[in-house]
Amino acid sequence: MKQALLFLALCLAARPAPAEALKAGVAVVDITPPVPYRMSGYFSERLSTGIKDPLKAKAVVFEQGGVKAALVFCDLVGVTRAVSDKARAAAGKATGIPKEHIAITATHSHTGPLYAGALRDWFHERAVEEHGEDSYEKTDYPAQLTAALVKAITEADAAVSEVNLTAGYASEERLSFNRRFHMKDGEVRFNPGQQNPNIVRVAGPTDPRVGLVLLSKPGEKPAPTAGIVSFALHLDTTGGTEYSGDYPRFLEKNLRTALGPDFVSLFGAGTCGDLNHIDVTRKDRRSCEEIGAMLGETVAVALPGLAPIGEPALAVRSTTVNVPLQEYTEDEVAQARKDMAKIGKDNLPFLGQVKAYAIIDTQARGGNGATVPLEVQAFRLSPKVAVVTLPGEVFVELGLAIRAASPFETTLVIELANDAPGYLPTKKAFAEGSYETVNSRIQPGGAESMADAAIMLLRELGDAR
Ligand SMILES: [Zn+2]
Repeated sequence: MKQALLFLALCLAARPAPAEALKAGVAVVDITPPVPYRMSGYFSERLSTGIKDPLKAKAVVFEQGGVKAALVFCDLVGVTRAVSDKARAAAGKATGIPKEHIAITATHSHTGPLYAGALRDWFHERAVEEHGEDSYEKTDYPAQLTAALVKAITEADAAVSEVNLTAGYASEERLSFNRRFHMKDGEVRFNPGQQNPNIVRVAGPTDPRVGLVLLSKPGEKPAPTAGIVSFALHLDTTGGTEYSGDYPRFLEKNLRTALGPDFVSLFGAGTCGDLNHIDVTRKDRRSCEEIGAMLGETVAVALPGLAPIGEPALAVRSTTVNVPLQEYTEDEVAQARKDMAKIGKDNLPFLGQVKAYAIIDTQARGGNGATVPLEVQAFRLSPKVAVVTLPGEVFVELGLAIRAASPFETTLVIELANDAPGYLPTKKAFAEGSYETVNSRIQPGGAESMADAAIMLLRELGDAR
């Protein structure tokens, strides 16, 4: 009896105080770089000539009791660790949100600025060498971006008010395709071309689930104000030399038609390292506008049917997995330094250019014997809903594995958080080769370790109720 009472007392002590209300705030800031400025996304020097639509950083801050967390979504190809470290530290100071509770993610727009990395450094250094200055970087964009990210988080924090959350999945099977294929010659090739007769079969899955968290103003009839939409489809559907947020801007446009002109769509890139919009069975490709509108339609239909998240229980866990970098011989590094000059030209095959860039970027991260820190974060909104953020361009198989092992009914897995260390392919893909594995900084197995860490965090959060 005594023991039973003691057990009951322990249970009561471990149980959290009656749930305090969950609050949320959203803020949107402009992060459009100047024109001209180098653009990211391809292996050539490409200058911006205008603005199709302004680039944005959108922040949502959640608060419950003494716990706070922030997620930021940027119209960028990637966020560097230098920028995210500074922004998270400064935003943390301003708002009291611990750095570990802040994830700054990129949508992976290929029509944003090239502001860091081996390719930017190469172009920048050549410009300074040849002209004494880099006329395409007259402003310090990384510093501007950092300040804008801090502003977005600080404004979202100041805007928190009580919120109603619903969450769940929509299904979108029409838009995203695995881009790796087994070919008749026995190789696995990425993007082998539409209607290529040498394709035998696709080499991996897709993820048709669209993860959704809808924020509404409470009341008799809750009014939707913002929504996290996570979908696994590479953002390279616009092209050209004008800045653009790619298909998520048309997704937002479509959702605004359904939910009101002030609705904010927070787009999180799902794990889409091996996915894109190219359907090899067809001759044509869907336009950026069509993709955004179709996804918007799917999401708008699903939103009213989402389930309430249950009693909110905001908590965050994070961990860092240090993964060995790829190793290269001295000859390979020396060759890569020479080959950097051929990037964007036609006297070196594409994969040779990619390899040179990957090798030089790997050297900048420490080279042989060094590790790359992969920071994983898990945000619990309630016992039913969690969001995981991962760095890099993650293969879809890993996102699917994380979701399958998650104890949460709804789990959003969002990539390119806080750092962009290239592709994070599966061991299977490393054995098969092709573009994504050549353009990876990590050794085989590193991405699986990261996924295991994410699953561990989700299980911890699932148990700690
Ligand atoms: Zn890409």
